[in-house]
Amino acid sequence: MAQAAEPGRIEERSFWQATMPPMPDRSGRPLPDAADVVVVGGGLTGLSAARRAAELGASVALLEGEQIGWGASTRNGGMCHPGYKQALSVLVREHGEAKAHRLYRETIDAFEHVAELCATRIDADFVRSGHVALAYAPSHAAGYAAAVDALQALDMPAHVVEREDLREEIGTDAYFGGIVVERSAGLHPGKLIAGLAALAEGAGAVLHEETPALRVRPQADGRSVVETSRGAIQARDVIVGTNGYTGGLTPSLRRRILAINSYIVVTEPLPPSVAAEVSPRGRMFFDSKNFLYYWRLTPDGRMLFGGRASMWPTSVARAASILRRAIIAVHPQLAATRVEYAWGGRVAFTFDRMPHVGRADGVTYATGCCGSGVAVMPWLGMRLAEWVGGAAPPALASLRFPLVPAPYEGRAWFLPLAGEYWKAKDRLAAREASRAG
Ligand SMILES: Cc1cc2nc3c(=O)[nH]c(=O)nc-3n(C[C@H](O)[C@H](O)[C@H](O)COP(=O)(O)OP(=O)(O)OC[C@H]3O[C@@H](n4cnc5c(N)ncnc54)[C@H](O)[C@@H]3O)c2cc1C
Repeated sequence: MAQAAEPGRIEERSFWQATMPPMPDRSGRPLPDAADVVVVGGGLTGLSAARRAAELGASVALLEGEQIGWGASTRNGGMCHPGYKQALSVLVREHGEAKAHRLYRETIDAFEHVAELCATRIDADFVRSGHVALAYAPSHAAGYAAAVDALQALDMPAHVVEREDLREEIGTDAYFGGIVVERSAGLHPGKLIAGLAALAEGAGAVLHEETPALRVRPQADGRSVVETSRGAIQARDVIVGTNGYTGGLTPSLRRRILAINSYIVVTEPLPPSVAAEVSPRGRMFFDSKNFLYYWRLTPDGRMLFGGRASMWPTSVARAASILRRAIIAVHPQLAATRVEYAWGGRVAFTFDRMPHVGRADGVTYATGCCGSGVAVMPWLGMRLAEWVGGAAPPALASLRFPLVPAPYEGRAWFLPLAGEYWKAKDRLAAREASRAG
């Protein structure tokens, strides 16, 4: 087996944050007494909502507790794709074909919305690379032909790749087949956030950093008072986009979301021949484990590799060493490649593996992307602004938002137990894989 290189010094910081355009300091700006729309959260959801609300003529104050983009929006893999965490076949089974297709089409619209923004207004290294979903065990590939049929019915070009042909897509023999989905793209999340912030400001929204919203008090006249660390703002509407960082501001949302850490490492740049061997067509990859891996090349040819290291509390350094071993297991040709960046971020999981939009706690919200939000959250943010402006809500608003079925007020004590269960299922799949060779 290949000998691993010494890890060396790893920068514990998002590679995207380290390589994004410098951002102005947006802290300390005077807060207004009143605004038509107050947006809470300065990520993909909040910035898009702020931009659209301002374009529709509203006065907009956006409140971000840290810095613009500080949350998952500059910590993700930059894999922009239609679709939800929940499989299309499950949506069809649960909601019938017509509603499932309406729900799914929203993610295609969402993807094309980001594609259009990146083609016309934001340079975010957007490349329509397509992705490959990979079977970790032979049985995981069983439904692939039906999944491809379901995608094609929605005008989503896709095809099955048999195990013996996988080398045309990826430089490893670790998987048992895959589905290539053409309509997806890699992008630079930091550049996307910088662009969205500039568009929101260009439309007239005012962005306030280091300004956590502490409480929303609905008033008798239908307006709300948003209390912040720096004073209160009267708002006609409050839009919340806090996703995996949702806290006590919206207690009923917190009761419906599990915030789970996901971690990413980025290596030094790969020699071009190695990059071409690992990803001959420049695709992005996910595997089919519960503790899944996701990986791609960055615009400058590094390996970006992510996964959920553990449900137990862990450090970035420990997660980095787990992910480094995972890279080498999948791509032994990277055994001597150094990891240069490592970081973590919070993903908001919901009990039905679907994002949700709606009204609760005096606010209008979009949340719970379950790790698939780069396409859908900017679009949902925009649609929330249109909804509070009088347009119809997105189809997602018709879904019931299930409670997490355990006594839970923000600290998910049961997560490590659930994690052990999912890990045990992955171990069974690994046994099946090793028996199949
Ligand atoms: C490691 C990782 C990898 C991922 N990879 C992918 C991927 O490759 N593809 C994909 O589609 N999706 C991916 N995702 C998911 C994607 O990043 C998210 O869906 C998306 O960024 C969510 O955007 P958001 O604006 O809703 O939330 P966030 O970007 O998380 O922003 C929420 C913001 O709200 C702020 N906030 C919270 N409470 C308050 C308050 N009370 N007052 C003021 N501000 C507050 C927080 O500071 C934070 O900045 C990944 C996520 C993670 C963590």
